[in-house]
Amino acid sequence: MSLYWQKDLETMPRAELEAYQLKKLKASMVQAARSPFYGKVFREKNINPENLHSIQDITSLPLTTKEDLRGNFPYGFLTVPKNEIVRMHCTSGTTGNPTMIFYNRHDLESWSNLVARCLFAIGAREDDVFQNICGYGLFTGGLGFQDGAEKLGATTIPSAAGNSVRQIMLMRTLGTTVIHTIPSYLTRLYEVFVEQGLDPRRDTKLRLFAIGSEPHTEEQRRRIEEMFGVRAFNSFGMTEMNGPGVAFECECQYGMHVWEDAYIAEILDPDTLEPVPDGEMGELVMTTIDREAMPIIRYRTRDLTRFLPGECPCGRTHRRLDRFAGRTDDMFIIKGCNVFPMQIEKILMRFPEVSTDYQIVLDTVQGVDEMQIKVEFNRDFFTGEREVLETLHHKLRSAVRDEVLVTPKVQIVEPGALPRAEGKAVRVRDLREAKKGA
Ligand code: ADP
Ligand code: ZN
Repeated sequence: MSLYWQKDLETMPRAELEAYQLKKLKASMVQAARSPFYGKVFREKNINPENLHSIQDITSLPLTTKEDLRGNFPYGFLTVPKNEIVRMHCTSGTTGNPTMIFYNRHDLESWSNLVARCLFAIGAREDDVFQNICGYGLFTGGLGFQDGAEKLGATTIPSAAGNSVRQIMLMRTLGTTVIHTIPSYLTRLYEVFVEQGLDPRRDTKLRLFAIGSEPHTEEQRRRIEEMFGVRAFNSFGMTEMNGPGVAFECECQYGMHVWEDAYIAEILDPDTLEPVPDGEMGELVMTTIDREAMPIIRYRTRDLTRFLPGECPCGRTHRRLDRFAGRTDDMFIIKGCNVFPMQIEKILMRFPEVSTDYQIVLDTVQGVDEMQIKVEFNRDFFTGEREVLETLHHKLRSAVRDEVLVTPKVQIVEPGALPRAEGKAVRVRDLREAKKGA
C-alpha cells in the first residue's frame, strides 16, 4: 500500500523539483501576462520569463499585495474569458473590497487533487467517513474540503457549521472517523458532548482531525487530541492560494509540507523584503504555479512563519512550514511590549485547569493601558473553591508576565461564559483606540 497520493511528485528529488518549479513558474508568468494587472506591471518593469535561470531568480519579480488585489477588483487579475470561469470564492472582506478568486475547470481539478493529497498524507483513506464542519458557500473550507474528500473517495458529510447537537448525531449515526474544522470550534463541540452525557473518546469512532484556518499553538493541538482521543493535523490554506490544501502536516506531525509542485513559497524579512536564511522567521510569500484563471505571483500573505530545516522522515521532499506565529497585523503593542496572541495561548494551554477558550481584552482604564485575559475554567477541574481560584489567578498572572513582560489582569469565568464567534475565533478585542478618540 502506498504511503503517498502521488509518489512521483511528493518525493521528487530537490534538484528535479526546482527545475520543475522553474518551468511551471515561467509558464505561469506567460499566463499571468494575459491579465490586465500583470500585463501592465510586466510591460512597465520589462519583465520577461526568459530572464529567469534558476528558481532563486524569482526574487527579481515584483511582489503582489492585498491592496493590488483589492484595487483591481473584481476582474483585473483574470487571464481567461469570463465564460471559462466555473467557480468563485472570496475572503470575508471586513476591511474593504473582498478579494474574489476565480477558478476554471483546471483550477478546481488541481485544487481538489491537492486537498485529497493532504487528507491521504494524514492517513485518511476511501473507507473513512469524513465530516466537514465549516461554513460552505463563499468560505473555501467548505467546498474545498468537500471536493478533496470526494476525490479521495471518503464518504463525505457536508454538515457545514453550527448546530452541534446535529453534528454529534451525524457523527454517531454514520460513524464519522475524520473531521475537518477550525480548532476554536472544537471547544464548543466538546462542551456539547459533555452536556449530553457523552464522551467523544468512548462514544464516537473519531480518529483524525484536520484543523486550520486560524492560528493555534502546539499546546492547543495537544489539548484537542486529549479531549477527543484523536490525532489532529495542522492545515494551512488561504483564499488567494485557492483555499485549503496549500500546506499540511503529514503523519509525522512536525511542520506542514507546502506543495511545491503547485506553489513557490518564500520567507522574507518583512522590512527589507529580502529572503531570510532557512530556519529564520519572516513573512510568507506565495506564488501559484498551477493555476490558470487567476495566477498570483509573489503574494505577500502577512503570515509569519519559517521553513523547518532538515528532511522529513515521511520521505516527502517538499519543505515544511512551521506553525504560524500569527499575521503581521495580529501583533499588538501594550505598555511598549510587542505581543502576539499565540504567545499568550501557549502559556494558558499549559494549565489544565483552564479550558481551550480565552479572550484578550486591551483597554484604557483611567488613562492607563491594561491587558485583561479572560479564561474559562476547565469543567473537569472546576471545584469552585476560592483558594483554588486565587492560586490559579496568581500562577496565570506571573506565567504570562514572564513570557510577554506585561502583567495582565486575569479573569476566570465559568465554562461556556465567553462569547463564541460565528467563524474564526476573535482572540483580541482592542477597546483602547475608541476610548482615546472619545
Ligand atoms: P481571511 O483573510 O478572510 O481570513 P482566509 O479564510 O483565506 O481569509 O484566511 C487565510 C488566513 O488564515 C491565512 O492567511 C492565515 O493567516 C490564516 N490561517 C489559515 N490556516 C492557518 C493555520 N493552519 N495556522 C495559522 N493560520 C492559518
Ligand atoms: Zn512529512
